Amino acid sequence: MENATIPVDRTAQDRLFINGEWSEAANGKRFETLNPATGEVLAEVAEGDAADIDSAVSAARAAFRTDTWRRMDAADRGALLWRMADIIEQRADVLARIEVLDNGKPIREAKIDIRQSIDALRYYAGWTTKLHGATIPVRGNLLNYTLREPVGVVGAIIPWNFPLLMAVWKIAPALACGNTIVLKPAEQTPLSALELAAIGAEAGLPNGVFNVVTGFGETAGAALVAHPDVDKIAFTGSTAVGRIIMRAAAGSLKKISLELGGKSPNIVLADADVGAAARGAFSAIFYNTGQCCTAGSRLLVHESVRDELLSGLVDRAGKMQPGDPLDSKTRFGPLISQEQLDRVLGYVEKGRAEGAQLVAGGSRAQYEGEDRGFWLQPTVFDGVQPDHVIAKEEIFGPVLSVLSFSDEDEALALANASEYGLAAGVWTQDVKKAHRFARDLEAGTVWINTYHPGDAASPFGGYKQSGFGRELGEYSLDLYTQIKSVWVDLN
Ligand code: ADP
Repeated sequence: MENATIPVDRTAQDRLFINGEWSEAANGKRFETLNPATGEVLAEVAEGDAADIDSAVSAARAAFRTDTWRRMDAADRGALLWRMADIIEQRADVLARIEVLDNGKPIREAKIDIRQSIDALRYYAGWTTKLHGATIPVRGNLLNYTLREPVGVVGAIIPWNFPLLMAVWKIAPALACGNTIVLKPAEQTPLSALELAAIGAEAGLPNGVFNVVTGFGETAGAALVAHPDVDKIAFTGSTAVGRIIMRAAAGSLKKISLELGGKSPNIVLADADVGAAARGAFSAIFYNTGQCCTAGSRLLVHESVRDELLSGLVDRAGKMQPGDPLDSKTRFGPLISQEQLDRVLGYVEKGRAEGAQLVAGGSRAQYEGEDRGFWLQPTVFDGVQPDHVIAKEEIFGPVLSVLSFSDEDEALALANASEYGLAAGVWTQDVKKAHRFARDLEAGTVWINTYHPGDAASPFGGYKQSGFGRELGEYSLDLYTQIKSVWVDLN
């Protein structure tokens, strides 16, 4: 791999960022973060735990109580968010490199994350001056109006698959609404969150408004959820941890929003443009090496187009070779960790054992001629049955389960037969069918003749066990504000 070191002009430290200062963890411990492409140690960061979370929450509470942040002129708060976006734009190359080295994703995809992070900051910068209440025509000689106020101290817990972007999806609306934040990035990918903290400080965020505590989920993450002085938890991650968080938040009745897992159906009807559907199905599952909560991991295909679609997919999968993630031509990266590789390989074994036909991949892929790093070949199983484990459980890796159907009611029933409901895709040239499926699918996002587009202005979130609350768009403002009703006697 070409020069796999963290860029030297990196401004952030490898320590915790609390109250505007870099500090070691109170326990003095540190942990390593690896480069998934090579399996080598990339950096060490501070291993924060409950004591550091407590300091960060105190700093966030103190910053929330002062007038410098929540009563800052809204236009100035917007300008500050815009400045953060500008700095990210200036440092896009360094940030992209950090993200590639820490997460393993190809630089082409890291640049898309950074573009979208900039867009989200600018989108919410615009909202700061548009957050207002209402005057309400109540009975009697009374004036009634509402105030839209920040929730307070927000604990943000994010995953490793889109480290910078997931941080920004929470930070941008939370700051726009005047909250203060303690962010706990995933232990596998702590580096870009630290960089974001440095960028916030440089842009002029007051001390304590945005704090970052790196550390593990069971310690730092759990302490943040349990902390009595945190008003809200915004979480993106697995459904299993989402359940733990919901239970733990009950103790202090915190507000929570959960963006969780998926097992998203991608449906190809008989009248689809099969070439476009094959390309779309490929990116639906293999983008970010399948480590997307929205991954189109169940391909439901009409039996009349199955052979043609499958041959297109298998052809493409065979051509995907591991490449240096820092090379702009590389299209496919490693999994995040050995643990994730073992988990995904476990699902490949289950698929075989249950009788699905492996038609592409299925084994570790070699990188630079060796079994180094956490690479897996793009994998496709045909003949998957609805009761197979690989048709039901979220794999979170480059493994596609293909199921066939013979009529559209069957396709819809198969698509909705899941505990998840994050996203779905439909490929058809019939406009009526497209909209009927969009109406009837139980999912927070439906893509028609495409897969994966997203925008800071468009809401994102899950039905069923994929979570609740909508991030992005104006909907996210509801997660980070609360409404006060004010009554005035006019007699
Ligand atoms: P994944 O399976 O994708 O690693 P997780 O849901 O395990 O996703 O992790 C997402 C985030 O949740 C990470 O930042 C992780 O540290 C954190 N986390 C894991 N366990 C807990 C927990 N018990 N309490 C709070 N946060 C947790």
